Amino acid sequence: MDRYRIEPGKKFKLSDYSPDDLGDFEGKKQKGNEKLAEYRAEIDRLQELLYCEHKHRLLVVFQAMDGGGKDGTVRAVFDGVNPQGVRVTSFKVPTEIELDHDYLWRIHAQTPGKGEIVVFNRSHYEDVLVVRVHNLVPKEVWKKRYKQINDFEQQLAEEGTTILKFFLNISLDEQKERMLERLEMPEKRWKFNPGDLDERKLWPEYMSAFEDAIEKTSTKWAPWYVIPANRNWYRNLVVASVIADTMRSWKMQYPDPQIDVELYKKQLMES
Ligand code: ADP
Repeated sequence: MDRYRIEPGKKFKLSDYSPDDLGDFEGKKQKGNEKLAEYRAEIDRLQELLYCEHKHRLLVVFQAMDGGGKDGTVRAVFDGVNPQGVRVTSFKVPTEIELDHDYLWRIHAQTPGKGEIVVFNRSHYEDVLVVRVHNLVPKEVWKKRYKQINDFEQQLAEEGTTILKFFLNISLDEQKERMLERLEMPEKRWKFNPGDLDERKLWPEYMSAFEDAIEKTSTKWAPWYVIPANRNWYRNLVVASVIADTMRSWKMQYPDPQIDVELYKKQLMES
């Protein structure tokens, strides 16, 4: 799935990445879902090791347009993982207190500790996306943020945090379908937000902002993956495979405490 990783320092054009791409799984939805189940089970096993080993930290960032499937991806990929092992943090419109601080303040406070997986549902990238599109701060301010974000993420990485960033790439047409579905299905209607229609009108501005953000902040230490997201099952499969591959590469081991097992067994038997 390396094909979706954006190479640092290269020109990046979103139009080169089709939201409909199914890679090697064209016409193989069932096989895709079987693979996903395998990755899920593996992530569950690796999460337990992560917790016990207490060495690595994993930060997973999701960004997408409305309807891009952030919630669904988190549910599908981490389904089955011990709920105590994964923390999901959503970043909403900043509060007054958050706005009184620098934009990374609230972000840094939520980063993972050792043995933890933290999922960001939206992130500091909102500060170069919605903030840029809506001119919430002057250009002189947001344009400095790409470098600040790279420096911040580099610091996290150097201190032992692995960072994976996913842009769930849906098309404008697919977004329309999903918004219509939200209106039509009573169990999805609560998700419909009339404000999303205003954001939809700004699609080209958002795409430019995403293009710039991804090009400028896909780094060795915190790469971006642009995930074809028009088909949910393929989107879930790609994200799960990147996470499983990453955690597997750490070659984690259960810690071996230096205790005299026989002695404790004996004491327990006599107790
Ligand atoms: P979601 O769409 O993720 O399910 P909401 O409907 O509550 O959740 O939307 C969260 C909103 O908060 C989005 O419109 C997003 O653009 C906005 N937001 C997040 N971070 C910022 C930020 N730093 N500045 C301005 N708006 C932000």
